[in-house]
Amino acid sequence: MDERSSTERARYDFKKAMQEIVDLRGRGTELISVYIPPSKQISDVMAYLRNEYSQSSNIKSKSTMKNVQGAIDSIMSRLRTYKSPPPHGIVIFCGEIPRAGDQTRMVQYVLEPPEAVTTFFYRCDSQFYTEPLLGMLLDKKTYGLITLDRAEATLGLLTGSKVMIIKNFDSMVPRKHRQGGQSQQRFERLIEIAAHEFFKKIADNATEAFLERPEMIGLLIGGPGATKDYFVKEGYLHHELQKKVVDTFDTGYTDEYGLRELVENARSAITDIELMREKELIQRLLTEIRNADGGLSAYGEEVVRDATEAGAADVLLLSEGLNKRRIYVKCQNGHSYAFTSSAEPEKIECRECGSYAEIVNDVDLVDDFFELADKFSTSVEIISADSEEGEMLMKAFGGIAAILRYRV
Ligand code: ZN
Repeated sequence: MDERSSTERARYDFKKAMQEIVDLRGRGTELISVYIPPSKQISDVMAYLRNEYSQSSNIKSKSTMKNVQGAIDSIMSRLRTYKSPPPHGIVIFCGEIPRAGDQTRMVQYVLEPPEAVTTFFYRCDSQFYTEPLLGMLLDKKTYGLITLDRAEATLGLLTGSKVMIIKNFDSMVPRKHRQGGQSQQRFERLIEIAAHEFFKKIADNATEAFLERPEMIGLLIGGPGATKDYFVKEGYLHHELQKKVVDTFDTGYTDEYGLRELVENARSAITDIELMREKELIQRLLTEIRNADGGLSAYGEEVVRDATEAGAADVLLLSEGLNKRRIYVKCQNGHSYAFTSSAEPEKIECRECGSYAEIVNDVDLVDDFFELADKFSTSVEIISADSEEGEMLMKAFGGIAAILRYRV
C-alpha cells in the first residue's frame, strides 16, 4: 500500500474506533482503559495487571468482579503477543457492554495511537477514558513555524495539535538610538547590515530544520509588524522552503509563546489547505463525469468495486461518513457471498438456497475497500463528511466514487 493510503487508513480506523468507544457504557464500574507508553516494559504492565486482578476480588458485586477479571484476563492475553510496545505505545479498552436483556458482549480495542502515549495509565470505570486520544483525531500533517522580528526568532514544528520548539535565538541588531559620534546615516546603515545578517541566519537555520522534512506540507511565518513580510518578500528562505510558505500571520511575540499564537492565528488557513486536496479530487471526478461518456469516472458501490477488481481504478474516493459493513457469509450448502449492510444483521438466510448462513467475516465497508484497493495498487482517499465536497460525494454518489486509469 502506498504511504499516503496507509496513513489514510490508519487515521480512518483510529477515528472510527474512537467514535464507537466514546459512546460505550458499562453496567457497573467495569470498563478498563490502559495506556502504555513506548518506553514501558510489557512485563511491568503484566505485573501491574496481575495486582489489579487480585485487588478486584474485593469488589462487592459478583457480576462486576467477574467482568473486571474477565477484561483484565483478556488484556493480558493480548499483551502476551507483544515483546515491547510499538513506537507510539498502545492503548487498550476492554470490557463487557450490555446488550438486549441480561446479555453482555465483550469489546476489546487495541489502538496504536497517531501520537505517542506519554504516561502509563490504568483506569476502571463505567465508561472508557478517551480524553488523551481525542486531540489526536486532528490531521497529523506537519507544518514548519517561524516567528521573527529584528530582535529575536523562533523555529518550531506543528504536528497535529502539538507545537514543538526547535530553536530560539536573538539578533545583534543594535537598538534604534545611536551612540555619540556616529552619524545618523552611518548608524542606520549598520542597523540594516545587522538585520540582513540576522535574516540570513534565520534562513540558514530554517534550511537546516525544515528542508529534509518531506512530511512538512507548509510553512507558517509570524511576528509583529512588517518585518516578517519583508523577510518573506525579499526571498531569504531556501527556494524549496519559499514555495511552502502558506502565509504570514501577526503575532505579538516571537518566542515559544509566539509559536502558539501563530498556530492559533493560522488555524483557518491550515484547515483550508487540508481540505484543498479533497476539493481537487472531487473537482477532478466531476470534470470526468461531465464528459458525454462519463470519462474516467465511476460511482456507486457496485460499479466502483467492479472497476477496482478489473484493475481500472486509480484513486478511490470514499466518504468518512459511509457507516456501512461488508458481511461475508457461508451457508450449510457451501454457498458463500458478501453483501453490504448498514446494520449488524441478526439471522441470515442464504440468498441461493434459503438455509441458515453463517457470518464468516464482518468488516467496515471502507476497510474492505482499503483491502481490495491494496491488491490492485489503487490508492484510497478518505473524504471528510462535513465539507461541501464530502456532502456531495455522500448525497450524489452514495459516498463511493473512483477516478479510473482507463474506461471500463
Ligand atoms: Zn445456500
